Amino acid sequence: MNIMCELKSEINEIEFHENIEGVDEWPHSWPKGEITYRLNTITQDITREQHQHRAVTVALRAWQLRISDLKFRRERNPDVSVDFEVSFEDLAHFDNKKGVLAHAYFPGQGDVSGDCHINDDWNWVTSSKYQTLSKPPLIPILIHEFGHSLGLRHDTTETQSIMYPSFDLGQKKNKLHQNDIDRIQERYGARKLSQRIIDYFQNRRDMAWDFE
Ligand SMILES: [Zn+2]
Repeated sequence: MNIMCELKSEINEIEFHENIEGVDEWPHSWPKGEITYRLNTITQDITREQHQHRAVTVALRAWQLRISDLKFRRERNPDVSVDFEVSFEDLAHFDNKKGVLAHAYFPGQGDVSGDCHINDDWNWVTSSKYQTLSKPPLIPILIHEFGHSLGLRHDTTETQSIMYPSFDLGQKKNKLHQNDIDRIQERYGARKLSQRIIDYFQNRRDMAWDFE
């Protein structure tokens, strides 16, 4: 059974209610250890290809800073198979639903586990710093999708949660909510890092230092 979760932009907020599968947590997680990932296709929207790869890494780091039992490693060799793949896909892949920003697969489903597809019908920018009402930022959307890749379902109880099912293009949402942190640590253990380090990376994400 391929359960797939779609993050939609605010304009299609009505639709997402149909996609909520229930309040129970997804039963599968990744086994402890290292998992590999790779961005396999790129978009024309962002000129520097390296920035696209970096956006994926920065989004994963948001989770990595909070958990102890998993490590993410970017695989650079295009011929080596990876645990989860990230790709830009055309509108047809999303059944021509323009409001969908991206979707991802939960773990425990074989080859597709963790895979994340981004709707290239949108005109993407890397960071929230560069977002506009018509240009969604990759990083918060990827943080949300990777939450699914790791096994988190939507959180409909808190609009500020990164796992809230829709994304308001007018707002900057760039950090994990305490709900997100609690849920991911329940699955993969809590990493002990000083608040100073967490804040440093938060600031780095807000200021888009990785994309200058
Ligand atoms: Zn989602």
